[in-house]
Amino acid sequence: MKSVASLDPGTCATLASLLKEQQIACEVRSGTDENGLEWSEVLVEDASYDQACDFVEAWQNQKDLENRRKRKCPKCESYRLQVVQDEHYEQAGLTVIRCLDCGALIPC
Ligand SMILES: [Zn+2]
Repeated sequence: MKSVASLDPGTCATLASLLKEQQIACEVRSGTDENGLEWSEVLVEDASYDQACDFVEAWQNQKDLENRRKRKCPKCESYRLQVVQDEHYEQAGLTVIRCLDCGALIPC
């Protein structure tokens, strides 16, 4: 088995079900590292590794595109959003976006 993606557990589960729809057998493995952080990865058979990688790549590109297109301010529906640079958020592993029009903070 080879790993094709390391993602958060929920996303791994989604990816695994999509791979199964493509008739690509896969397995999700997860655990906790020495820092107490949860990790999760999707593994496939060596024989379907290349096919799975192509699929994962296309899926991630598609997802990025959708996220970028969909993201708008929940308050005023503005698309003028900017990532907040804040070390507290960074330390917590959070990405927060600020609406340039109404100032709303949107966690993502
Ligand atoms: Zn706004």
